[in-house]
Amino acid sequence: MRIDVVTIFPAFFDVLEVSLLGRARGAGLLDIRVHDLREHATDRHRTVDDTPYGGGAGMVMKPEPWALALDEIAAAGHDAEDAASGPLFLFPSPAGERFTQSLAREWSHEPHIVFGCGRYEGIDERVFSYAATIGRVRLVSLGDYVLNGGEVAAMAMIEAVGRLVPGVVGNPESLVEESHEDGLLEYPSYTKPASWRGYEVPDVLLSGHHGRVAQWRRDQQVERTRTRRPDLLPE
Ligand code: SAM
Repeated sequence: MRIDVVTIFPAFFDVLEVSLLGRARGAGLLDIRVHDLREHATDRHRTVDDTPYGGGAGMVMKPEPWALALDEIAAAGHDAEDAASGPLFLFPSPAGERFTQSLAREWSHEPHIVFGCGRYEGIDERVFSYAATIGRVRLVSLGDYVLNGGEVAAMAMIEAVGRLVPGVVGNPESLVEESHEDGLLEYPSYTKPASWRGYEVPDVLLSGHHGRVAQWRRDQQVERTRTRRPDLLPE
């Protein structure tokens, strides 16, 4: 999978060198390229923002540097005439659709994803219309709160999507039983020792009885989901 990121803070993505994603990059499973939007600014001050039409606080990201950056990325390996076969452009935005595990799974099959990280009050709205002429566009929110920029959201999505690309996580079975994979939160996990500082591992997990363990874990999933995230359960 190829992933491009456009940002005014490329250093945010230095951490992609470490851990599982770093190893996946080294192994050629993930081809991640980070681009500085300011390289596409059209003035000598490398300006990428301007005041909002209609007034109001803050600055808005100018459209032309974005178009130049997206054009350059999309031109590499795509037929510019065909938006449907172009890259998937993901723009982190608190005003977007909510990012979920099922979107992560869906997007883990994409050959080419481009993240556009907004800053200030966001990106000129026309950029999304323009991007839709050279690829597919989704505005995606990490949750109902406001971050300073799209970088942290893009990082979270790169990790959630990237770890589902075959080969990135060594044991694929560990991906199946996780929270949100079956609409429920995961059951509690324990490791050795069985008795620790007066806290005990539930007896059923020491019983060696696979059926009872499976039933206990299922019950725990439902109970946890009911108390912590009732919104996930059917009405
Ligand atoms: N004025 C925008 C609004 O109210 O919708 C918020 C702009 S925010 C300060 C700057 C950038 O941070 C956004 O363009 C977006 O890229 C990113 N961002 C902020 N909160 C986010 C969230 N919950 N999910 C994804 N991206 C977010």
